Amino acid sequence: MKKYNEMSRAELLDLKKQLDQEFEEIKAAGIKLDMSRGKPAAVQLDMAEGLLTAVSKSEDCFAEDGMDCRNYGGLTGIPEARKLMGDILEVDASQIILFGNASLTIMFDTISRAFTHGFLGNTPWGKLDQVKFLCPVPGYDRHFGITEYFGVEMINVPMLETGPDMDMVEKMVSSDPAIKGIWCVPKYSNPQGITYSDETVRRFAALKPAAPDFRIFWDNAYCIHHLYEEPEKQDRLLNIITACEEAGNPDMVFEFASTSKVSLAGGGISCIAASPANIEEIRKHMNYQIISHDKINQLRHARFYRNIEGVMAHMMKHAAIMRPKFEIVLDMLEKELGGLGIGSWRKPYGGYFISFDAMPGCAKAIVAKAKEAGLVMTGAGAAYPYHKDPQDSNIRIAPSLPTPEELAEAAKIFVLSVKLVSVETLLAE
Ligand code: PLP
Repeated sequence: MKKYNEMSRAELLDLKKQLDQEFEEIKAAGIKLDMSRGKPAAVQLDMAEGLLTAVSKSEDCFAEDGMDCRNYGGLTGIPEARKLMGDILEVDASQIILFGNASLTIMFDTISRAFTHGFLGNTPWGKLDQVKFLCPVPGYDRHFGITEYFGVEMINVPMLETGPDMDMVEKMVSSDPAIKGIWCVPKYSNPQGITYSDETVRRFAALKPAAPDFRIFWDNAYCIHHLYEEPEKQDRLLNIITACEEAGNPDMVFEFASTSKVSLAGGGISCIAASPANIEEIRKHMNYQIISHDKINQLRHARFYRNIEGVMAHMMKHAAIMRPKFEIVLDMLEKELGGLGIGSWRKPYGGYFISFDAMPGCAKAIVAKAKEAGLVMTGAGAAYPYHKDPQDSNIRIAPSLPTPEELAEAAKIFVLSVKLVSVETLLAE
């Protein structure tokens, strides 16, 4: 097949006629599918059924230190669940605080605390004229939503195969004291599935920020979300907490994680990992917020998974469900769009998404076209601050929720929408 941009006008018109017909047929099938968010499928949630009965009697409700999990107390979490989350992040349990069912709340709360109280004695951000954040793009829409909500000025930083463009990060962070933070999804990033290289992590740890209270928001949401069992197909990420300690910047990073996509997406446990000084400050702040989080749920998680080996074995069950879904989409992209010059994508080894880059100016139209045929995708531009993709090119594909059969249909609608919009764009040029 010829590249689309090498076709004559007559060839493009012919192709459009044929694609229009195919599109009408697929539209007539009346498909209704929502692929807008990276939700786990019900079969994945079923795998955590044992959680529902892991604590079933009053006598089961005691943590390993004897604490009665039914009662108040244990602000930072029960020891066995702190250890479990610490092992997931490769951080000592003493540097972990457990929160409720969503890591997003911790991130929101951390930014909120910076605005009202400041970090470690620094001026609260709310008293400053200007607060800026670096936002690697494409990135996670809800991160950008939090900083937008607090009126932070967000600056796009391009993602490279090795992580964010560190030349740009270093230059900006060291020269502008208004830059107070950066959002990072360092492993199997949302949406590209990129894992930061060792050099990127070391450069992060060695940053010399102009702002003394600059913080790296290291959202390691997908740290154990491999798609493959083979070690050579599992990405590795350097430990940022250790790297920052070694670089003499122990307080510069907050790391976040949860079991939302390990156990239950509405009923997991979440945590922050940080330096002893940061942990102490967070603990003091929490004292005003809450007496203790849901320790029964912490206990359920510790009992159900037992240890890190139990968690990793569970993740391989997720992989067995997710991998074929990724492969359905990737095979369809390759088969239908490979070599046409109208889109590019990455084949990730983990995470929850496939990131697709259409010809500039096409993403919104492709998402709208797919919707016409019953397929709801994540809104184009969602992966950028202020929902503005400067190229109007990026589309996030979330393969987790539909069944494999539904996904095959969805992928057909998607590639057809890409082809049609690309032809129309070239004809309009
Ligand atoms: N962080 C990233 C990068 C995500 O993609 C998601 C969910 O899609 C979350 C955080 C949400 O995590 P939680 O459910 O713990 O708030």
